[in-house]
Amino acid sequence: PLPQTPLLQVQDLGIRFGGLHAVRDVTASLQPGRITAIIGPNGAGKSTFFNLISGFYQPTSGRITFRGEDITRLRTHEVVGRGIARTFQTTTIYQELSVLDNAMIGHRVRTRAGLLDALLRTGRERRDEEESRAGALRALDRVGLAGQATLPAGALNQEGKKRVGIAMALASDPHLLLDEPAAGMNPEETVNLMGLIRDLVSGGLSVALVEHKMSLVMGLADDILVLHHGQKIAQGTPAHISRDPAVVEAYLGS
Ligand code: ADP
Ligand code: MG
Repeated sequence: PLPQTPLLQVQDLGIRFGGLHAVRDVTASLQPGRITAIIGPNGAGKSTFFNLISGFYQPTSGRITFRGEDITRLRTHEVVGRGIARTFQTTTIYQELSVLDNAMIGHRVRTRAGLLDALLRTGRERRDEEESRAGALRALDRVGLAGQATLPAGALNQEGKKRVGIAMALASDPHLLLDEPAAGMNPEETVNLMGLIRDLVSGGLSVALVEHKMSLVMGLADDILVLHHGQKIAQGTPAHISRDPAVVEAYLGS
């Protein structure tokens, strides 16, 4: 088969916090329409890697290219505007607001300047409101929460809250960065969530997800990127990765 144009490429990507090189010289490509898992022991630099891609941190070295465009110096809302949306390791949903309101906040963050604007709902026209509502309802439908739209988000179980977090990140066709989506979930909820991720990818999304438990991504990911002490130590299929001596060593030593 012909090689596809990568969705996302990072070249010699790095960031230092004082003396700590949290991400160091990482060169990697992520392909469209696939599930890429970023794994590695705690402190490997996985969340930092997402923070770099999504513009929360500015790299101290290297380049990030999304669909051929250099996005290295873009700010978070500009990255979101390009169609890259993320969730956080600790889900930030508004417990007291309805599921629909949460999804609408997510929609506004993507379509406007930023979170502050979304939260303040500064006097905008009805049309915007209706567009937000329609977008939010589509997102809720995609994550299987259409029937719970009017409930307070805080009333949902852990899995439901994760789904709200994903709905908040869903734009028309974004590429999702999910930071430890299964954190705090029981095995059954985890299986459900993995099913949701698979459905989203079948529907045309590309997903990159961070996970520190290697076993969780073995049956899910098409491609796995392994970080250790901020560096890429391996990338490949689950079968390839699980046999890689450097990966086995990193996990045994952690
Ligand atoms: P992971 O997600 O793989 O567990 P992180 O990316 O959160 O790891 O962290 C990698 C390293 O970078 C850790 O040593 C962490 O303490 C450090 N780090 C992350 N963010 C910051 C920051 N803003 N300031 C200083 N150190 C940081
Ligand atoms: Mg992390």
